[in-house]
Amino acid sequence: MDINEIIHTVFTDGVLLNYIPDYEYRAIQEQMADAIITAWYNEKHCIIEAGTGTGKTLGYLLPAALFAMHEDVKVAIVTETKALQQQLMLNDLPIIANAIRDITGTSLTYALCLGSNNYPCYRRLQNAIDTGSFDKSKEKEIYHVHDVVTKQPALTRFDIMAGESLWHTICRESQLCPIHTCKYKNRCSYILAKKNWQEANILVMNHYLFFSNIAASKSLVPDFKVVVFDEAHSIERIASNQLGFAINTEQLKENLEHIIRRRKGGALLERVLTYDMISEAMEVFDNALRQVQLSKKILNDIVKNLQTLRLRNPLAECLPLLKALEEVLRLFEKAEPETMDEDLRLEYEYHKASIMDIWHDLGMAVFMDEESYVYWLEKEKNSQVNIFICGQPLDVASIIHKEVLDYYDHCCFVSGTLSVNNSFEYFKQSIGCDNADTLILSSPFNFTTQSVLFIDTNDIDPNSEEFIDASVARLTFIVNMVKGRCLVLFTSYTMLIGVYEKMNDTIPYKIFSQHRVNASTILHEYITCSNGVLFGTHSFWQGIDLPGDLVRAVIIMKLPFEAPDSPVVQAKIEKIQKEGGNPFMKYQLPYAVLLLKQGFGRLIRKSTDKGVVAILDSRIVTKAYGKIFLASLPEAKKVYTLEELEKAYTAMMM
Ligand code: SF4
Repeated sequence: MDINEIIHTVFTDGVLLNYIPDYEYRAIQEQMADAIITAWYNEKHCIIEAGTGTGKTLGYLLPAALFAMHEDVKVAIVTETKALQQQLMLNDLPIIANAIRDITGTSLTYALCLGSNNYPCYRRLQNAIDTGSFDKSKEKEIYHVHDVVTKQPALTRFDIMAGESLWHTICRESQLCPIHTCKYKNRCSYILAKKNWQEANILVMNHYLFFSNIAASKSLVPDFKVVVFDEAHSIERIASNQLGFAINTEQLKENLEHIIRRRKGGALLERVLTYDMISEAMEVFDNALRQVQLSKKILNDIVKNLQTLRLRNPLAECLPLLKALEEVLRLFEKAEPETMDEDLRLEYEYHKASIMDIWHDLGMAVFMDEESYVYWLEKEKNSQVNIFICGQPLDVASIIHKEVLDYYDHCCFVSGTLSVNNSFEYFKQSIGCDNADTLILSSPFNFTTQSVLFIDTNDIDPNSEEFIDASVARLTFIVNMVKGRCLVLFTSYTMLIGVYEKMNDTIPYKIFSQHRVNASTILHEYITCSNGVLFGTHSFWQGIDLPGDLVRAVIIMKLPFEAPDSPVVQAKIEKIQKEGGNPFMKYQLPYAVLLLKQGFGRLIRKSTDKGVVAILDSRIVTKAYGKIFLASLPEAKKVYTLEELEKAYTAMMM
């Protein structure tokens, strides 16, 4: 049988019923699998938008697995969220492996790749216990972890569940790992994992590791030739983050202090330098620490009360800090690593490399000679003093083109939201792709019977105070109508807090708001409450799954245009203007359309789900561009007044 015949057999002959009791054949799933195989055998990449309910994971896993086995190549499946990786590893890949074995008699192997500091390091763990160099309040925990890892080495951070600070003491740090000479290498979790990666047909990893692997000259995971990106709408943003830098000034201070801090056997600095150099060395470190403090103060004065500030001119204010770090590095050069024992040498090299990285990145911001970057300062959230110096490449598309599309033989990009007004132009430009097969697979759900779309036609400026008052009235009506279980999506914390303060004591449902607790805690609390209301900003627009009765209404306060004062947004707009393009049509509008589609997609997760989507920003009908938003959304029944909404909702729920 050729691959297409096997795909057809797996989807149609009932083999999947052995592993998915309620499996139903979906022609679009087979269409997706065929499209991927056709594109790859025609030496093309492919881009597929697969709406909710198309069964996209099996739709791409089956062709990916068969291609890996037929062509004897490794295939990477790259996703954004941990939840999806778990679903692939624990559910979908075992099903596909069983189905392939039943039909062809061959075995599929697969492995989860995590960044190396997600594995425990037995050597660091043992050293911490032997030398007592761990937080004494964690004594019970560290002995427990030691016991667990001794009995079962093939574990990761997610199996061990150690607290954050203990994990930093015992996790693998690549620069502290003498992998070839380590006496624990036969029981090392990371080495065991790497062995599995080598043998696997399919590697599952996240977008962050994928782009870190590119930044590390593709040295972190075994080489593979074929990639499927799920949740592909996120890759440009993640690539920008992973290929840029963010200097944490507080962390830099802690690193420098760590090197001179007294401990058993002497400070690291005293142990790597000769006695006659110590007093000079202390002066160098004192000066570096002074410069960090001074820079933090100056940068805070520059940023004032803003959260982020674009740097348009070289950051000359940090030149003294750059020079102070240069002195530190010069000092490190005088050390003689060949005379050190292995542990000391590794620790010395680790600190030297991390200061070198910061020195390099700081130099980019101080001189700004890399013109293709955007630079900015950013205050740490919930911190009055800590500040980050950040930089990102602006033209990520050309990097993705060179490092991904040109490098890998076959790529497939999959997501529920990649097209704008039935066109992939925006997504293709964002990843530098000019030659790919494309396919849109609509959701099989019936949105006209499963959902009602309320559009607020009040022509009120969404940036006015009046808008908040008007929205609170509509929101209260909808929350009461559906009796709680609403997801309210905001584009800014300012508006979220404004609405929260006006509604918190006026509705009979508890509001779980992202401005009060972190996103994962608030989501958990909302799920366990029978009729709460969830207020969220950016991270709630995509990637959260609240099926069934967990969401009865999704309420979108404003069309999700990116904040125009964000340094990266400003820089992208200027770049398009310089190239003679229209930034609104080329970038701001398609970005907002895709995010609105994501927000809408939070409502209907299963064929039995029903509910309301309310868009309270009337620009969707009053502005010409509103048509593009509407044309990109599923075909729901539309209503324009609260009376119509109540009628339609009651009828739908009967
Ligand atoms: S090989 Fe490296 S990661 Fe593994 S136990 Fe040894 S030092 Fe730790």
